[in-house]
Amino acid sequence: MTDQNSVNVVENPGEGGVQVVENGESNSQEAPGKELQRPFSIQGHMEHALQHRERVGVQDFILLEDYRSEAAFIDNLRKRFRENIIYTYIGNVLISVNPYKNLPIYTEEKIQQYYKKAFFEAPPHVFAIADNAYRSLVYEHREQCILISGESGSGKTEASKKILEYIAARTNHLQNVETVKDKLLQSNPLLEAFGNAKTHRNDNSSRFGKYMDIQFNYEGGPEGGHILNYLLEKSRVVSHMDGERNFHIFYQLLAGGDAALMSRLRLQNRPDAYKYTTDITSPVSQKNHDAEQFRIVQEAMKVIEIGEAEQGEIFAIVATVLHLGNIKFVKNNEGYAEILNHDPNTENVAELLKVDATKLREVLTSRTIEASHDVVNTPLDVEQSQYARDALAKAIYGKHFNWLVARLNASLEPKDKIAMSSVIGILDIYGFEIFPKNSFEQFCINFCNEKLQQLFIQLTLKSEQEEYLREGITWEPVEYFNNIIICDLIEAKHKGIIAILDDECLRPGDATDSSLLERLTQHLDQHPHYKSHRKADTRTQKIMGRDEFCLKHYAGEVTYNVNTFLEKNNDLLFRDIQTLMASSGNSIVANCFKEYNLLSKKRPETAITQFKNSLNDLIKILSSKEPSYIRCIKPNDAKMPMQFDEKLISHQVKYLGLMENLRVRRAGFAYRRTYEAFLERYKCLSAETWPNFHGPPRDGVQKLVEAMKYEREEYRMGNSKIFIRFPKTLFETEDAYQV
Ligand code: ATP
Ligand code: MG
Repeated sequence: MTDQNSVNVVENPGEGGVQVVENGESNSQEAPGKELQRPFSIQGHMEHALQHRERVGVQDFILLEDYRSEAAFIDNLRKRFRENIIYTYIGNVLISVNPYKNLPIYTEEKIQQYYKKAFFEAPPHVFAIADNAYRSLVYEHREQCILISGESGSGKTEASKKILEYIAARTNHLQNVETVKDKLLQSNPLLEAFGNAKTHRNDNSSRFGKYMDIQFNYEGGPEGGHILNYLLEKSRVVSHMDGERNFHIFYQLLAGGDAALMSRLRLQNRPDAYKYTTDITSPVSQKNHDAEQFRIVQEAMKVIEIGEAEQGEIFAIVATVLHLGNIKFVKNNEGYAEILNHDPNTENVAELLKVDATKLREVLTSRTIEASHDVVNTPLDVEQSQYARDALAKAIYGKHFNWLVARLNASLEPKDKIAMSSVIGILDIYGFEIFPKNSFEQFCINFCNEKLQQLFIQLTLKSEQEEYLREGITWEPVEYFNNIIICDLIEAKHKGIIAILDDECLRPGDATDSSLLERLTQHLDQHPHYKSHRKADTRTQKIMGRDEFCLKHYAGEVTYNVNTFLEKNNDLLFRDIQTLMASSGNSIVANCFKEYNLLSKKRPETAITQFKNSLNDLIKILSSKEPSYIRCIKPNDAKMPMQFDEKLISHQVKYLGLMENLRVRRAGFAYRRTYEAFLERYKCLSAETWPNFHGPPRDGVQKLVEAMKYEREEYRMGNSKIFIRFPKTLFETEDAYQV
């Protein structure tokens, strides 16, 4: 893959400095400089190093000569991708390009390579990020979080699993952590079965955001875990695009459930028998895969200690949703909806949920409204009934998913809280989304990304400033775009988009999506990041529809269609349905709806407010930790190996803010390295420091920079590290070393 004699440069996020190592891809076990026997001349030839860089690019984008050029950036990614090198750093940010094939880079051997190894001694890798986080936590007692972002199919979930696997392997020697590790690892297949689905962009797409804390005891052994979940895409339960699928669990159950289970759940083994799972007929291989996954899910449930009875209730819920989807309504003589008597689907739902079948028919076809002390029962028409049925299916599935996460958390809770010391959090959450048509979901997701970008800015600049201060180096302010203005536009009290949206949702009477749009425009038309259709610039922008508004996000402009915003934000379920569900003999369903019901006099929080609050809680959690970042890139839309779609990648480089990230990183001193490490590596470059320098390492480094004739502007001497401004300086030093 790479040349044995080549040069690579790796950053040490733990120390905030860059280290130059011998051929990082394959030769990183060697101690730097070990094989050199004598001091060398400083006028190095650069040819060899250049050739290598030409072929596999640089390991850290900071080393790009033309760091402002997106073309150079993408070129570097391409070179590495071609060589099957999927990881590259920008300082302490790991960039990962999905290879869409299994590379031998996650082997036991690789794990060993990063295990207890100083970060800079090995090439960029997700294991390096995991190891660094683990060491900082255990040895330096700094709580960690790893934030993974990128668009659908870019490899976020795979990265998060690798981190978990690495930590599990890293703690292998510790006693009594086996069960916890198993549970942590098994939480993945379980959550994926219920929360992932095949989409056009990803065969195993996470349709929810996830933050997972791994809790460690004082010995550094995993002691427990806690998961927070965000915004499950509930609409998928009732409809999905052609060629996509519903959540995996439906197909897994139908393919893998044995005859006894199927009969208990009154199911046939065919997804095409159910409206919510009809899709293009799945190939046999898919069915086998689903069946196999079902066994894995059952196994995972055992590890999580979900017993037979609970499993029974869970699968009854999955089956209920399938039967619900098949309930049909007909128009009766009065023009209202009716379900045929003895409709097997209704009977099945009633049976599985242990509710009264007549009552179930009633709540799906009528609605009681309390109006000034009167209770009026109003019949629904066919369309309203279908809406109520789908709303129920979504509510049951969505609440059950939350229940499942809570159930997992109960199982992952540390047995011995006193022994618990600290956590590493892993965030695997949807990246910025710009589709041809963007709706409420994209609005939520992009708001989330604005908040995370804001956190990134705060934490990165903060840690930079702190390091300069610690090292006694004058801080030089860096120009950057602060997206707080967009966060405020969305979430400011009273005047932000969320406040206006909630106001419209709560306004009695005639609020509609278009009245919402009108109010948004009325309040925000002057805002520099808001564009109403009135203001659309027909020269540069496609003309916006009358039901659209546009936000200038940090990652680019997104036009949102306001249709269904109110409905999705209200997320209402008729009260009769809630009451009936709270009386269910299925204890999970009853529990899920009971809480809802108790609050029924009060209006539940809107979807966006719930999301905003949970997001702000998340930001609070993350702010208290030391972050590492993984930015994932998807190389093509065809899910194919070796295809590098430049246009697609260029979009992602923009959305992920990578050029800005690099620019900010390069604005100050791009590299820093402890005096000891710098001296150890380069002592051969001066007769005064070779073979050993007797005195403080700082003085030795001073001798070295004098010998190498560094200009004053090129470097600073901090309290414990040398700071180097230009990559060229370091390259020349490294090339001299190579002579
Ligand atoms: P979504 O937002 O849709 O959940 P994601 O970013 O989580 O997407 P993943 O599910 O992690 O994407 O990755 C999509 C697919 O790409 C995986 O199922 C796997 O086939 C492939 N893939 C991702 N990362 C790697 C990797 N490091 N090595 C090999 N294949 C990978
Ligand atoms: Mg995912």
